[in-house]
Amino acid sequence: MVLDDDERQEQSLIEQCVLQNQKHLKELSSWGIGGPCSYFLHVSRPSQLIAAIRYCRARSIPFLIIGKGSNCLFDDRGFDGLVMLNRLDQFEAIEPGVYRVGSGYPFNRLGVRCSVEGFSGLEFAGGIPGTVGGAVFMNAGADGQETGHVIDSVEMVTMDGEVRVLRRSDLAFGYRRSTFQQMEDLAAIVAVTFRLVPAETARERQRALLERRRKTQPIGERSAGSVFRNPSGIGVSAGELIEMAGLKGLEMGGAKVSKVHANFFINFNGSTSTDMLGLMNHVKERVDQMFGLELKEEIRYIPYRTQTV
Ligand SMILES: Cc1cc2nc3c(=O)[nH]c(=O)nc-3n(C[C@H](O)[C@H](O)[C@H](O)COP(=O)(O)OP(=O)(O)OC[C@H]3O[C@@H](n4cnc5c(N)ncnc54)[C@H](O)[C@@H]3O)c2cc1C
Repeated sequence: MVLDDDERQEQSLIEQCVLQNQKHLKELSSWGIGGPCSYFLHVSRPSQLIAAIRYCRARSIPFLIIGKGSNCLFDDRGFDGLVMLNRLDQFEAIEPGVYRVGSGYPFNRLGVRCSVEGFSGLEFAGGIPGTVGGAVFMNAGADGQETGHVIDSVEMVTMDGEVRVLRRSDLAFGYRRSTFQQMEDLAAIVAVTFRLVPAETARERQRALLERRRKTQPIGERSAGSVFRNPSGIGVSAGELIEMAGLKGLEMGGAKVSKVHANFFINFNGSTSTDMLGLMNHVKERVDQMFGLELKEEIRYIPYRTQTV
């Protein structure tokens, strides 16, 4: 691999950041849980991201890209590798209703912005405290809308540091599932182009969804949104099952099942990942015993060590 001058400069910058910086992951997660990562990099340019990926690959350093950490449970021991905090936040209106957005752009801001401009498809995003990259990776959704429905194309970087553009027809999305979750070659999503449709009611709908969220979810408390996926085809949500099992308010260490919404687990008093995982396992066991149903996690648990780099 031959590097030009710009790439050499990025590499030396990465080298300094990677070698000097440490960070506690609890500062980067909406749950406020997680120990230190070995290396930390705040990423604000695509060239920096690519240089960091190449740097890690060449030295077999495990790496992880995160957005707002609003769907991650980090381990108490932290992460044995580089954590890249994605703040690639460019925003470009290509034509009416078509937006090319950096993967670190706040997803809630995007939802409000598109709705204010009179375009429909991302009204639900107004209440989701993640980034565009996290929303695409997770296929975030609510109230019948999903991120995948309105994607035109995705620009990503491979594990070899190459940029690739995937069209809508290359991608598959399901309930909180995306092609990216299984893609071994994925290092990071860099930018996303969305194609929305005009709708005069978009802003009104976005506001109404946000208002409903404020009434039904424990906003302001430390959570990661829904912990478990809703089981398919039974017409009962994971939250309803947990509530029917009598587990609302159950505490384990500093973690508890929210009294407002039973599928939201709260770090109310210095919860560790051990507390949170313990509570999750207990809830799974009780729901299985009572209803014969195995709940599946929606949140992503990030172990201290990953096997591949
Ligand atoms: C109060 C609250 C309400 C919520 N409501 C909803 C809801 O209604 N619907 C819903 O679907 N979710 C909801 N969530 C969960 C969460 O906000 C979403 O899943 C969100 O899309 C995660 O984005 P993030 O940037 O925080 O991702 P992170 O938590 O930082 O990362 C999640 C996963 O995506 C990967 N990832 C992140 N960025 C990139 C990238 N650029 N390239 C490749 N991989 C990447 C990470 O490695 C990780 O595996 C809620 C969370 C909270 C706290």
